[in-house]
Amino acid sequence: MKLDDYNFAGKKAIVRVDFNVPLDENGNITDDTRIRGALPTLKKILEAGGSLIIMSHMGKPKGKVNPKLSLMQIKDAVAKALGRDVKFAPDCADAAEAAASLQPGEVLLLENLRFYPEEEGKPVGIDKADPAYDAAKKEMKEKQKDFAKKLASYADVYVNDAFGTAHRKHASTAVIADYFKPEDKMLGYLMEKEVDAVDKILSDIKRPFTAIMGGSKVSTKIGIIENLMDKVDNLILCGGMTYTFAKAQGGNVGQSLCELDKLDLAREIMQKAKEKGVNLVLGVDCVAADDFKNDANTQICSVMDIPEGWEGVDAGPETRKIFADAIKGAKTILWNGPAGVFEFDNFAAGSRAIAEAIVEATNNGAFSLVGGGDSVACVNKFGLADEVSYVSTGGGALLEAIEGKVLPGIAAVKG
Ligand code: AMP
Repeated sequence: MKLDDYNFAGKKAIVRVDFNVPLDENGNITDDTRIRGALPTLKKILEAGGSLIIMSHMGKPKGKVNPKLSLMQIKDAVAKALGRDVKFAPDCADAAEAAASLQPGEVLLLENLRFYPEEEGKPVGIDKADPAYDAAKKEMKEKQKDFAKKLASYADVYVNDAFGTAHRKHASTAVIADYFKPEDKMLGYLMEKEVDAVDKILSDIKRPFTAIMGGSKVSTKIGIIENLMDKVDNLILCGGMTYTFAKAQGGNVGQSLCELDKLDLAREIMQKAKEKGVNLVLGVDCVAADDFKNDANTQICSVMDIPEGWEGVDAGPETRKIFADAIKGAKTILWNGPAGVFEFDNFAAGSRAIAEAIVEATNNGAFSLVGGGDSVACVNKFGLADEVSYVSTGGGALLEAIEGKVLPGIAAVKG
């Protein structure tokens, strides 16, 4: 079922959103992007005459009540964003009465789902190595079903608009869908947009296709790197990964981030790129620093020859040019992971060069998708978020979708 085709009049809709917004030490929201992201879906349901039961997680309370992670802290912000009162259910598993009394146009926000271990469905307080773990897990899966059924009982229709958690098979993101008929469950607008963006990257590829993978380690990106190898024309690998590749080719990388147990893997990736005709683009020079801080002394050096006591912290000027060239000519672009320690202004030039080249390519008609927490933070930092085609709210979910994995949160609704 599609959101636009559903008649919400008089219906109670339970909507899974991602309101896991960052808070400061006083509980004030420091970035409300995620709340704004869910508004089109929430407003649509209210305007169509439905009532809303909003559910979300916040942080990692690990199955225990933690007032610092209470969604009560964001109730007023949600009310302001929706332009109407929001009621609050302080126990998400005991909200039947509050839900039953909702009138069309009214809104009920449930307390943090992860105050219950049933939400994630993982047994707590027992080690995986414990012989009793499997039995505990089985028991928890049963409890998870009951918990999902309870949540489902509050509403007539289920909407999943939380892309950030779509790769998790949690009670509220997937299991709950079993308790609704196919015509009473659907994706929200944000989810649909995310799915369309991934589809565009995977199925409607205009060439050349340049993917830029950065961040700290090869090990966390290997799945997506291997998957992309079958799809892209240019694959830029940057950030901390640079130095594992340099070392694998016999370079001296000083104190740079380097995964010594991934040198063979790096060589395999280079070999595979050759076999598949992928233009693998690696940094040639870097900004090396003598300390991991913004005002450290720096020098530009070859990635193959970084002096002892120095570490590569950003792409060098020659590298920035090479990266920009591989990006500017592209018609499809995917960026995940920064080219340097962009959090420090003095080491952000490589990431900025990438972001600016992506904007230029986008202005020339390319489709550009930026995703994963840190690359999104980059485009926000540079004020360029509005100048790329799509900024994804998903980190892990986006990468798993692009790896071609079926996301449980989407499968549960679409069948
Ligand atoms: P990830 O979580 O793997 O996507 O990595 C993101 C992090 O990688 C950011 O916090 C960057 O500061 C960091 N990073 C990027 N380049 C480097 C580098 N050359 N050395 C150390 N950390 C880096």
